Amino acid sequence: MSRACVFDDIIGQQRVAGFLENAAAERTVSHAYLFAGPPGAGKKTAAKAFACALLCDDGGCGACASCYKIKRGLHPDVHMVEPEGAATYMVSQIRELIHDVHLKPVDGSRKIYIVDAADALNDGSANAFLKTLEEPPDDVTIILLTHSYDAVIPTVASRCQIVKFRRVPPSMAEGIIVERTGADPAQARAALAAAGGVIARAREFLDSPMRREARDKVLATLKDLATMDGHDVLVAARDLLAAVKAPLEEIKVLQAEEIREREEFLGSSAGKAVSDRHK
Ligand SMILES: [Zn+2]
Repeated sequence: MSRACVFDDIIGQQRVAGFLENAAAERTVSHAYLFAGPPGAGKKTAAKAFACALLCDDGGCGACASCYKIKRGLHPDVHMVEPEGAATYMVSQIRELIHDVHLKPVDGSRKIYIVDAADALNDGSANAFLKTLEEPPDDVTIILLTHSYDAVIPTVASRCQIVKFRRVPPSMAEGIIVERTGADPAQARAALAAAGGVIARAREFLDSPMRREARDKVLATLKDLATMDGHDVLVAARDLLAAVKAPLEEIKVLQAEEIREREEFLGSSAGKAVSDRHK
């Protein structure tokens, strides 16, 4: 079988990419995984790539309707879950999730739940989740993400196959961004800084036409910063904030559109429950 394209999105984690690709190809897929590694290591990107590989007819081509929808967060059978509570998952949210887990897939043969911040499962919500985590329906795969393995409640971690992500060295991240976007090293560095070290976000920052204006401003300001006096720095900081805020507003509008699109697309209670969570 030729190498599935979608695993090229996993950067600086060859071992992880190889492991997930094999699991998908051989169909030796666990019911639950715990992806553990520092912010910016590409856990979410890897989880989406794995979902693509599991649902795509071509093992994760990255180009078909299924892969496209997963990458854009629009696939009805691939759910991103984030804590609704300020710092923790509430029991009610986990109960709702468990209900959703037991519904049949809408589109594909399998459903995938990507549960961000698994360290935000506290005693109560973790307890509510354990049985499902241990024995979800056959057509469900649950992928928990955490910045630190040690921060996850042991009864949760012990029910998952652990996949450890290493920290991607900044020089490697920079090199990859230069290679894939055609940006120069200084731009790649600035984009990484603006994206909090997350490679996928830095690439999006450099690639997206929607962000071009904000990006040009940020890059120009960062370049000028070295030669500025105190007043200039203040003005630059104001410009930077405005530049970064503008695209965020645009993104909010886009997200609202996507949720509407998703609702129209699904029209099912499962879809509604998921989009409600996103609001
Ligand atoms: Zn595909």
